Amino acid sequence: TTRNALPALAQSTAAAVPALSVPWQADPVPAARIVWLNEALAAELGIDPDLLRGPEGLALLTGRIGADGRPLAPGEVPPEPPFTTAQAYAGHQFGQPNPQLGDGRAVLLGDLEDDRGRRVDLHLKGSGRTPFARGGDGKAPLGPMLREAIIGEFLHAAGVPTTRALAVLATGERIAPRRGEETEPGALLVRVAASHLRVGTVQHAAWHHGEGTVRGVVDLAIARHHPRAAAAENPPLALLEAVTRAQAELLAQWMLLGFVHGVMNTDNMALSGQSIDHGPCAFLDAHVPGAVFSSIDRQGRYAYGNQPGIALWNLSRLAEALLPAIDPEDPERGVAAATVVLEGFEPAYLEARARGFARKLGVPGVEDPVRLAAAGELGEELLALLAEHGADHTLAFRAVAESRPGVVLPGAPSAAIEAWWARLLALRGEGPEARAALAEAGRANPRRIPRNRLLEDALAAAQAGEEAAALRVLAGVAEPFEERPEYADIESPAGGADPVVTFCG
Ligand code: AMP
Ligand code: MG
Ligand code: MG
Repeated sequence: TTRNALPALAQSTAAAVPALSVPWQADPVPAARIVWLNEALAAELGIDPDLLRGPEGLALLTGRIGADGRPLAPGEVPPEPPFTTAQAYAGHQFGQPNPQLGDGRAVLLGDLEDDRGRRVDLHLKGSGRTPFARGGDGKAPLGPMLREAIIGEFLHAAGVPTTRALAVLATGERIAPRRGEETEPGALLVRVAASHLRVGTVQHAAWHHGEGTVRGVVDLAIARHHPRAAAAENPPLALLEAVTRAQAELLAQWMLLGFVHGVMNTDNMALSGQSIDHGPCAFLDAHVPGAVFSSIDRQGRYAYGNQPGIALWNLSRLAEALLPAIDPEDPERGVAAATVVLEGFEPAYLEARARGFARKLGVPGVEDPVRLAAAGELGEELLALLAEHGADHTLAFRAVAESRPGVVLPGAPSAAIEAWWARLLALRGEGPEARAALAEAGRANPRRIPRNRLLEDALAAAQAGEEAAALRVLAGVAEPFEERPEYADIESPAGGADPVVTFCG
């Protein structure tokens, strides 16, 4: 059901944990224009997209909210103190602790209940400097905001828990270049997230505020994302376990899709288990375990194949920050308990990965652990073959789902895949279960992903004023499984010899 007025927002996070938020007003926007509006997501929020396009909608989408949580009418002045907030967090960036991060160029508009009764955050990125901006200008260019929208819609369509864009707006401002010499078009991203509680949020609480604030974040994260942990004997430990499981699931899904996040700093890891902060991320074309795309990841810390290990490293930092809450009396006992939980990451990850492989390969009957292990093994062997033959990650899995063994390893002798294929057919078996699993594989292996080269070119065009190509990529990857001849170009792998390098925007 759609509300017939824009909803009033709340500031539940600031109310629950006041120490980690400051009231902050977004900069005024000279000439806001909606570049893309996510009508499907608006519907999930119970918001009429036509209202979002009107004057009050633009007020909401540009952060002009009254003290009652409702968008300001044109001409109305924002309240003092502002309704919207900037959140503090800390984090490990490339392995080094940074005690003061936070929403440097974003404000939390507020939160509301979606059509399934879940509380979600609305966040505005690119809204100007905040007290956490450090050296930054607080602004965001159009290309990177469109990238975040496109990645989010694709991940969502592919079944990965993720934050999503409700809208991308152009501000009408020219902003200082992130790189190069020409000014860039300023933009805003309105992001919907289960919450913006990060590993770095707990770190900030632990490093600057102490146990009461840590406990506040723990209780809020449990209430919002992991309600079963509330009844546990040790809720902070149960939260660590729930986040560990959620991240194991997320990492398995990223890896199966060939996704490279690019900046897995602890401030970019959400306690909800949603994929978040899609900056210099990219998807594998050829399956290369050491693939790195981000210009700032010079050591390859966040390379494709390193991601599960980094997730566990980040979870270990979360455990450290939670320790005083896990066992206020005996730190050693707390460490022992947290260690047991962290040791659960690898088996949870491997199990999620094996289930994912079974789904992608069309293998039924994996409630049976022997069959699950066999599917997992076939998946690992397939990845080894892709790496050995330089095959395209996405096309290879799609070929498997379409039962076209001859195009799994293009250019390789057919013998390279024959033995593997025979074992797959034997494991799949025949009959209705096998047919259902194969149909499911069609919904687990995308035809279309945001191909790096295509995306880079489309975003460069958008920056230069031609937005159509980027919006077309978005539409194509938001329905990644359907057969769409008109999107054939989105399905073919990267053209051009230049390796794609991605940048933080
Ligand atoms: P990221 O690695 O992009 O998630 O950002 C790390 C930190 O830098 C966060 O605290 C951001 O809010 C901040 N930041 C990134 N870009 C800017 C900017 N242009 N102005 C102010 N702060 C920024
Ligand atoms: Mg931010
Ligand atoms: Mg971030």
